[in-house]
Amino acid sequence: MGNPRDNFSPVYDVVGIGFGPANLALAIALEEHNDSAPRDQAVTALFLERQPSFGWHRGMLIDGATMQVSFLKDLATLRNPTSRFGFVPYLHARGRLVDFINHKILYPTREEFHDYLEWAAAGVDHLVSYSSEVTEVRAAGDLLEVVVQGPGGSTVHRARNVVVACGLRPRMPDGVKPGANVWHSSELLTRLAGRTADARRFVVVGAGQSAAEAAEYLHRTYPQAEVQAVFARYGYSPADDSPYANRVFDPEAVDVYYDADQDAKDRLMAYHRNTNYAVVDLDLIEELYRRAYQEKVRGQARLHIRGVSEVTDVRDEGTGVTLRIRSQATGTEETVTADAAVFATGYDEQDPVPLLGPLAPYVSRDTAGRLRIGRDYRLSLDGPGDAGIYVQGGTEHTHGITSSLLSMVAVRSGEILRSVLEHRDAAKDRDDTALALEGAAHD
Ligand SMILES: Cc1cc2nc3c(=O)[nH]c(=O)nc-3n(C[C@H](O)[C@H](O)[C@H](O)COP(=O)(O)OP(=O)(O)OC[C@H]3O[C@@H](n4cnc5c(N)ncnc54)[C@H](O)[C@@H]3O)c2cc1C
Repeated sequence: MGNPRDNFSPVYDVVGIGFGPANLALAIALEEHNDSAPRDQAVTALFLERQPSFGWHRGMLIDGATMQVSFLKDLATLRNPTSRFGFVPYLHARGRLVDFINHKILYPTREEFHDYLEWAAAGVDHLVSYSSEVTEVRAAGDLLEVVVQGPGGSTVHRARNVVVACGLRPRMPDGVKPGANVWHSSELLTRLAGRTADARRFVVVGAGQSAAEAAEYLHRTYPQAEVQAVFARYGYSPADDSPYANRVFDPEAVDVYYDADQDAKDRLMAYHRNTNYAVVDLDLIEELYRRAYQEKVRGQARLHIRGVSEVTDVRDEGTGVTLRIRSQATGTEETVTADAAVFATGYDEQDPVPLLGPLAPYVSRDTAGRLRIGRDYRLSLDGPGDAGIYVQGGTEHTHGITSSLLSMVAVRSGEILRSVLEHRDAAKDRDDTALALEGAAHD
């Protein structure tokens, strides 16, 4: 491997780290800007993605699972309703527009939405480098250097701005490690691939949407297997998707949340957590209940909902897994063996700071130690240069509940692009003024 510095590429206006829906939406916003702006106003960009091709939560692309967001909240429409990258142009391109209308749905399957995302990603393919894992961002004067590991070794790209959109990190309970038969739900389908259909028992831990989807899928796919769903609640709770509550996902709600004081922010988050966290679509709850009831009628129960319970010990035995399950009501414990245990125990926001390496000490934090982030998603940096570091995700404490979701990706991309352009114009004005002053000094 040569010296990465020998490998310098041009200076990009924007280098995006991660190419999930958030930075894909930004790539589309840039592409549309470049389509209409004069040539000297174009924004140059490169997006770096560690996966070998576009993929959105492939491990949970469960057959029949539906989106939790309207198809109109696609990658572009809320920013530009006439965008060629919207879900409606996608349907038209695929020859399904009329069929979709007849279907009368707002929430397509995740499979169809994934196809839409792949279609949109193909439209901006010239801006993306796949199999490219970013390992470090460092300062170089007023620029940033982005260090990438790819199949050909290490490369360094230079940028005026970096947009970090690395998504969420799967969370396992303390002390539980993934293994051959202990999985996080994000890996469900990849871990099941190649497994024979003769599994006898699965345990699914968690009470949110992914947990309910995993329980439903395992129950449906393994007709001989028992599925035990373990969680602390009494039963699954429905997601609040009523119209007024749904307004927490509106662009205006981001302004309200951003400007609110900490007490108001805490209250808003507590009131409306149940629009997204540890809740399940009512249809799915009812489907699980219907199945469990039908099994009772037949006297052959396979789906067991174990509320008020927790897993206290997990042992991956190689051929299967042994769990200790404790009733939080009585304190009694039971040992359960299963073919596999699926922990649908959520995700954590990614902290972008470890990626920033030597820049980390310059990142400004509030009194609670959290990142200071501008309304335009730009990190506050106390030096060393003028380059911009923007984040998509990891902004729940400043911008609210949409931080890691799809609802805001179109609008947020437009906001980030506007900020990049404003900073570029301001820098040019400063340079012009400095040149004029220098010229005057020589007169
Ligand atoms: C199963 C599931 C279903 C969901 N359904 C919905 C839904 O219906 N509606 C909704 O609003 N939200 C949903 N979400 C929330 C989800 O966070 C968003 O859908 C969306 O994935 C956010 O996009 P993103 O680009 O921020 O993150 P991601 O989609 O996670 O993309 C991040 C990308 O960055 C890449 N990456 C990470 N680190 C690096 C690195 N160092 N170098 C290069 N590349 C890197 C990753 O490989 C990944 O491709 C769902 C989440 C899950 C897990």
